[in-house]
Amino acid sequence: MTWIITKNELTESDLLNTESLFALGNGYLGVRGNFEEGYASGMNSIRGTYQNAFHDVIEISYGEKLHAFPETQQKLVNVIDTQTVKLYFGEQEEEFSLFDGDVSSFERTLHMDHGYTERLIHYRLRNGEEVRIRFRRLVSFTTRELFAIDVQIEPVTFRGQVKVVSTVNGDVSNYVNPMDPRVGGGHAKLLHTEQAGFQNDCLYVMNKTTASGLSTACVSRHAVQGAHQVEMRTSEKAAEAIITFSALTAPVSVTKLNVYTDTLRHEKNLIEKGISIQEELRSASFEDMLGWQKQYLDEFWSNADIIIGGEESLQEGIRFNLYHLLQSAGRDPFSNISAKGLSGEGYEGHYFWDTEIYIIPVFLMTKPDLAKQLLIYRYSILDGARARAKEMGHRQGALFPWRTIAGTECSAFFPAGTAQYHISADVAYSYIQYYLATRDTAFIRQYGAEVLFETARLWADTGHYDNGLFKIDAVTGPDEYTCIVNNNYYTNAMAKYNLLWASKAYDILAEDESAFEALRGRLNLDAQEPLEWEKAAAAMYLPYDEGLKINPQDDSFLHKAVWDFDNTPDDHYPLLLHYHPLTLYRYQVCKQADTVLAHFLLEDEQDLETIKRSYDYYEAVTTHDSSLSSCIFSIMAAKVGDQDKAYEYFNETARLDLDNTHGNTKDGLHMANMGGTWMSIVYGFGGVRLKESGLSLAPILPSQWKSYSFHLLYQGRKLKVEAEKKHVRVTLVNGESLTLKLYGEDVQLTAGHAIEQKLH
Ligand code: BGC
Repeated sequence: MTWIITKNELTESDLLNTESLFALGNGYLGVRGNFEEGYASGMNSIRGTYQNAFHDVIEISYGEKLHAFPETQQKLVNVIDTQTVKLYFGEQEEEFSLFDGDVSSFERTLHMDHGYTERLIHYRLRNGEEVRIRFRRLVSFTTRELFAIDVQIEPVTFRGQVKVVSTVNGDVSNYVNPMDPRVGGGHAKLLHTEQAGFQNDCLYVMNKTTASGLSTACVSRHAVQGAHQVEMRTSEKAAEAIITFSALTAPVSVTKLNVYTDTLRHEKNLIEKGISIQEELRSASFEDMLGWQKQYLDEFWSNADIIIGGEESLQEGIRFNLYHLLQSAGRDPFSNISAKGLSGEGYEGHYFWDTEIYIIPVFLMTKPDLAKQLLIYRYSILDGARARAKEMGHRQGALFPWRTIAGTECSAFFPAGTAQYHISADVAYSYIQYYLATRDTAFIRQYGAEVLFETARLWADTGHYDNGLFKIDAVTGPDEYTCIVNNNYYTNAMAKYNLLWASKAYDILAEDESAFEALRGRLNLDAQEPLEWEKAAAAMYLPYDEGLKINPQDDSFLHKAVWDFDNTPDDHYPLLLHYHPLTLYRYQVCKQADTVLAHFLLEDEQDLETIKRSYDYYEAVTTHDSSLSSCIFSIMAAKVGDQDKAYEYFNETARLDLDNTHGNTKDGLHMANMGGTWMSIVYGFGGVRLKESGLSLAPILPSQWKSYSFHLLYQGRKLKVEAEKKHVRVTLVNGESLTLKLYGEDVQLTAGHAIEQKLH
């Protein structure tokens, strides 16, 4: 049962959330789960289709604009709508609607093992006659441009005429809500229709953005089963096919194949390209396409699936989250994975550090080719990051934008935006983790070394020596309720790691003389620089409080008053919607894991006792108003030995969107949290760590579970880890023999063999 998600509710608020939950995507194209026939009149809906990275540029207006504030930002555009397929029954043309009609049964399902959604409806017409209707849709994992809808209509007692009206609509707008800083406040209408028409059996619409100069097109074709007639018509902004079956004596079906193209990825003639992709697909049936989905997903799940013994609702949650990550991750150098994936418009389709710290870790060990793609995207915006560093007054280095699509800084609120310099170290960290998981030295030479050098240069330029200690002032760490501080522990620790690895990458690069010389020349790098990086890393100041014996979040954090949690009403969370930022900055109150996150990512910087005390301290002042928090607390609760807490926090991550616990699932799914669910099991309960010294594991089992198991792809090998009530079993499914650490002891694994030990 846990391969499917079923949602049959029809209230407005449920439907808005379900649009996100039932969104389909393939990294390029994303379609929200709207109903083909529409909703009841007056009902709100966010009808959306997105092409990853397809954006417009909008101006940022400031009351007071200071130097180097970004002047424009990118915004993901809601593109041509092909979801609409309306059905009319009988001579009276009675319109099918789940809201006005007589629905005998309705079932809506997402099939995560087969890659499609389905709606099954048993419907009674006004004259009492009945039909069965089945809508299925998929966004193809194998043909990136394709979104297909299949509608089947089956007679029960009704035998009359059926009219199907299918639209390709260029008149689309973005969703805006000026009252919520987490979604766009303005600029709803970004696309303008340049062409709408038909050619042979294809409908087409082409739209252009207002300012970015990008165009998008959709070419739609209908494959029809059953005797019918077709009429095509166009208006200024839409094209439509009207398919009429004069009698419903046997089941009929219409498959609507929508092929999307855009000028970021395709040659100029988008409509022609769309038509040629349609030709390639002409002989394929909807069932064939479902077969391709299954094949693709079988491979994905064979490496990525996690099985939890004993709790179906959590099993459902973990699969749901992994499935959506797969659907949302960009697969080309233009795109990445936005905070909401391709499921909604929250955060305007921007890419954040969420990718590097919460999502790449999942793909790294389940689908490394995707992790690599996401890293290549960052490389593709490296020039922009260099330019931004200059603009910010640095003599050297690369400062990655806090939020972006095309590579320039899109944050208009610098205290919780540009000031989050840690994103540059996060990107570097991710390249290092990729190297540790794959030992892909060629990748480091081609991409990684340059990113590590340029980010290290940023730290060398941003920090300064103070009494022999290397310090970094005026930055914001991950916790957005504490902004612009000196010596944020997280930032300093991550910068230290970045600096050290830049020097190691220099040595890796040096093994290949021609690559080494080429890059050294291009970056004007001299042999002195790595020594300076090492020196700064060695002198890096990591704040420590002798009294509390914890790592303070920054130089001032522990000197502030603690937020009055007892007198904060429940309905005042998330605090960011109820208090001015300055109020929040004056108190010890954290939106999300900050020092605790640093203790996870870089656990060898501190002893376990400091980590434990810090965990306890920050737990008491963290609201988890950000969905990036609970998973980290789950992982660290497991590390410090609090299994119950680890389980509690895990519960919060696993079903966050399925149960809409943050109240804004309608704006899109919380991708970082989804990655966090996987991390909570693998890094948390599984105790997995990926370090220069190798792979280590230390599984524990929550008492609520009978077992769990997962796979890991590691340096060309596949491992299986199974934890049961009494035992833990690690199998090297394939690949070369390997030594890893299990509960701190070396164990040897050979292919096809398992080792078993008592569970700790
Ligand atoms: C969090 C950030 C995160 C962003 C996008 C914010 O609420 O505080 O850490 O990057 O959401 O997910």
